[in-house]
Amino acid sequence: MAAYVIERCVFQSDVTPVTLGLSALVGLLPDLDGLVMMAVDRRRGLKRKLRHHEFPTHTPLLYLVLTLVLGLIAPPKAAILFGVLTLGHLFLDSWGTDDGIMWLWPLSRRQFSLFPRRLHAGGAYGLRFYRRHVRCWRVMVPEVLLLVSGSLLALHALTVF
Ligand SMILES: [Zn+2]
Repeated sequence: MAAYVIERCVFQSDVTPVTLGLSALVGLLPDLDGLVMMAVDRRRGLKRKLRHHEFPTHTPLLYLVLTLVLGLIAPPKAAILFGVLTLGHLFLDSWGTDDGIMWLWPLSRRQFSLFPRRLHAGGAYGLRFYRRHVRCWRVMVPEVLLLVSGSLLALHALTVF
């Protein structure tokens, strides 16, 4: 959705299915650390809270630096999209979660969350955690809006090209 708005309104160019697909992957890029952590936990037989928001791989500084580096080697348009999508991901990770992210890292390791909630109370992990997470209107409304708008934009891009 963010990629579509930026492409159309800022760059005034057409949005292709490739752009949308790559944008979706870039938007999910910060969660690679979570996938690695889940694989390690599964291998060790551990079932616990996913703590990837405590890693520097989930901090704005990392993605600001990567955006600047990308701006040196790629077209500015790609760097801007990368920065908006990855920082947008971090913003959403701070929305209605129990831990938030370390917005001030490396100055502070404190994690900030808007509307913090005790999502892991009682040992809720995995699917049980996500069910609890989306059953709150502050989370469900934006999630549904993003899902529906993203699906409609993908459908529009696929039918136009
Ligand atoms: Zn994340």
